[in-house]
Amino acid sequence: MPAEEHARDAGHAGRLIIATTTKKKRTTSNKRSGARRTPARAATASEPSRRRRPPSSPSAHVRGPVPRGRKAAPESENGEQRWKRTKAPGAREKGTGTHPERVREIIHRLDTLYPGATCALVHRSPWELLVATILSAQCTDVRVNMVTPELFRKYPTVHDFAALRPELLEPDIRSTGFFRNKAKSIVGAARKVVSGFRGSVPETMNEMLQLPGVARKTANVVLGTAYGHATGLVVDTHVQRVGRRLDLTAHEDPVKIEQDLMKVIPKEKWIEFSHQVIWHGRKLCAARKPLCADCLLDSICYAADKTTAPGTAMLSRRAGR
Ligand code: SF4
Repeated sequence: MPAEEHARDAGHAGRLIIATTTKKKRTTSNKRSGARRTPARAATASEPSRRRRPPSSPSAHVRGPVPRGRKAAPESENGEQRWKRTKAPGAREKGTGTHPERVREIIHRLDTLYPGATCALVHRSPWELLVATILSAQCTDVRVNMVTPELFRKYPTVHDFAALRPELLEPDIRSTGFFRNKAKSIVGAARKVVSGFRGSVPETMNEMLQLPGVARKTANVVLGTAYGHATGLVVDTHVQRVGRRLDLTAHEDPVKIEQDLMKVIPKEKWIEFSHQVIWHGRKLCAARKPLCADCLLDSICYAADKTTAPGTAMLSRRAGR
């Protein structure tokens, strides 16, 4: 290679080396100073459109400034707000079907379906009803009615139960399930009735709630059915389910459901209404497949899990289908 050419190449390579070194130096100094590199790059067509939206957008004017701590709503092409919907348009709020006329109609139809409905547990006294109700927890009334005749023949009075040790009661009630807890509750309740209430089941809610194993549901069954005292409504699994399906409550908690029902059902109907709804839950408004085609409440029921469209059951009944 001629001497001149060699010198030119060496000079070019030297410039390249100097440029690389300068770049490295800049990067190092940036890292040291903590400064962020922001590439000076023009917006391209592939970038999101919000980058290119002019600040004088009409929607920005209508919406005004976004409050601090809140994200701006996304916008559609024409600048309208697109907040995410949580409900379909026209969707009903749960628990809004408590218009007095609608409630009257529900009561009327239940009266037609279950006239004179009462408790299905066989009993001859408030004490026997209390025992049967304690046994009916997580168990069918049919099963309880199979167990209690022999149980009350063996232990005819509350004093007989109070004198027992719970373990002795367990074999007699085993088939109703949860028999250890139930035996403790029954013997505990018997002892409290004997020691605190002279052997008679009390007649007030406050006193009933002092008995072991007795909560509002059991107390309402005994006070309503055995004594005819309307102290509240019985809320069991059927009342929970049917009450929600009929839009009479939006709650799941039995105590809150009872409070909701007490507000909309007339007091003189509390006892009967509870039993009517319990019967309805057993016979037609089952948990899995409600028999809506046979239900008189169909035309005023808007339950999401109905097996017919509202009002069609009446039509199919008329058509003899
Ligand atoms: S129409 Fe169906 S879901 Fe509604 S109350 Fe009757 S059985 Fe239950």
